[in-house]
Amino acid sequence: MNRSLNLQKLQEGEFDLLIIGGGITGTGIALDAQTRGLKTALVEMQDFASGTSSRSTKLIHGGLRYLKKFEFGLVAEVGRERAVVHRSAPHLVHPDKMLLPLLKGGQNGRTLLGIGLKIYDWLAGVTGLDRRRMLNRKETLAVEPLLSNNRVEGAGFYAEYRTDDSRLVISVAKTAAANGAVLANYVKAGEFIYLNDQVRGIKATDVLTGEELLIRAKWVVNAAGPWVDDVRGYDGGDSRPLVRLTKGVHVVVDKSKLPLAHPVYFDSPDGRMIFAIPRGEVVYLGTTDTAFEGDVKNPTITRADAEYILAAANDMFPSAALQLADIESGWAGLRPLIGEAGKPLRELSRKEEIFESPHGLITIAGGKLTGYRKMAEKVVDRVLLRSNLPAKKCQTGHIKLVGGEFENYVEVNEFIEELQSEFGRFADQQECRYLVHNYGREAHAILLEAEKLAMESSEAIATAEAIYAVENEMTESVLDFFERRTGRLNFRIKSIPKVRDGVLRVLADRLKWSEGRFIQENSLLDKALLRVVEWRDK
Ligand code: FAD
Repeated sequence: MNRSLNLQKLQEGEFDLLIIGGGITGTGIALDAQTRGLKTALVEMQDFASGTSSRSTKLIHGGLRYLKKFEFGLVAEVGRERAVVHRSAPHLVHPDKMLLPLLKGGQNGRTLLGIGLKIYDWLAGVTGLDRRRMLNRKETLAVEPLLSNNRVEGAGFYAEYRTDDSRLVISVAKTAAANGAVLANYVKAGEFIYLNDQVRGIKATDVLTGEELLIRAKWVVNAAGPWVDDVRGYDGGDSRPLVRLTKGVHVVVDKSKLPLAHPVYFDSPDGRMIFAIPRGEVVYLGTTDTAFEGDVKNPTITRADAEYILAAANDMFPSAALQLADIESGWAGLRPLIGEAGKPLRELSRKEEIFESPHGLITIAGGKLTGYRKMAEKVVDRVLLRSNLPAKKCQTGHIKLVGGEFENYVEVNEFIEELQSEFGRFADQQECRYLVHNYGREAHAILLEAEKLAMESSEAIATAEAIYAVENEMTESVLDFFERRTGRLNFRIKSIPKVRDGVLRVLADRLKWSEGRFIQENSLLDKALLRVVEWRDK
């Protein structure tokens, strides 16, 4: 993951496959293709995971909504996939029990939910203690006393997996790179290069320097998420849009304001489903689902979005009485849905589709974080079907992501304990857990580095993380670090004032920033910290 070296490599010779877009779809394809033996490259115009892939609900989930539509095949595929994604990185994709309350007059009846969750577990191969339990009213309120006392009649209590979406993307990218793929962030694909009327590469721009690059490849895949139609536009021809965008917003409150023990998946008053998910010292809530037109790079949270989510939360957890002022941070993401003209947004399919242009440009759109590995397999299969490139069968079903060399979640917890006993005087259980959930086995190296620094422990850990992020994870800016490598901007926001100077010094030093760039990066962080307050005060 050495960017300047990779910029050189991108311009040498011809790749078998070049991918445009470094979200979960693009990095997943890079990992699949490279591990099958294809010489693979990837360019991302912003930072990895800057698009939708850092703005999701952060669940690797089996799609209960498909069950409601009786799409059993899809539930089984996505359900099995949860387990595969968990095995590939047990530190990053971990099991958690989700509570789905049954309400008086609500959408879900007890019998139907019970059968539905049983089928859900069965299709997804969930076994043992992870299997769903149906709780009565008393048991439900014992698990979650904050639920509306006079409306709850019971609940389904079932297994889901939680993740950190941008860390998943970075881990997949690192694993692709460790297997030989050449990836670079801040490289924007522009026009295509053609040979005999077929796409054979791209002209690209290094966004950080303005330098032009020519990257040659036998096949090019467009995995540009909400930008897939822009990239198709560079290829000319059919200009009809493939995707329609909807916006989904999440807001974050301090856990003291909504002290949930488990994630809860509940009905909002207008019948949509909302998640409330505890994570560390905060709880995040979402999502909305509204038509979007505007700046695709920077979708924002409006006051109406926040009020909608808070109204739903207060309806379900009345004693919390959440207010706008309780919101500490949040994010907005865009769903690129395959857009059948005239169909209401809510009814558009979330399933991925693969398209091929007359010039051989392959575009993948739609899909879920959860299904990224299968999506990648399908895209690479398509490339192989259309070419005579020699390649192995898909390998990713048994590949561990970098840092994820654990058999299961029990081993992850044992590793957290080992770190605690080795670094206990220095890092408490919460810090060790945070590091292991972010970096897996690599957490050990970060703690060794932190121990060497003559600083107070939380500052030393953040500084060691910054060193690691620059040396191993192609971190180029302060927001790459606080937003996507560490999630601190949304989840550990209170720690930022304490660690920002140390982190900025490391980044400036290692990335050789001029004084002007240092001032600019400082103000970018200030602006990001102010973002929430700005809309709240409007
Ligand atoms: P993106 O992550 O947007 O990546 C596309 C990338 O292409 C971007 O980084 C962009 O910068 C880059 N790009 C664009 N143009 C160019 C160019 N010209 N040159 C170079 N690079 C370019 N799924 C789940 O499984 N679980 C969930 O809990 C979940 N929750 C969600 C909640 C919300 C609110 C939303 C919106 C989605 C959610 N999803 C969830 C779906 C999931 O997040 C997306 O399917 C997935 O992140 C899409 O990834 P992607 O790589 O296709 O797109």
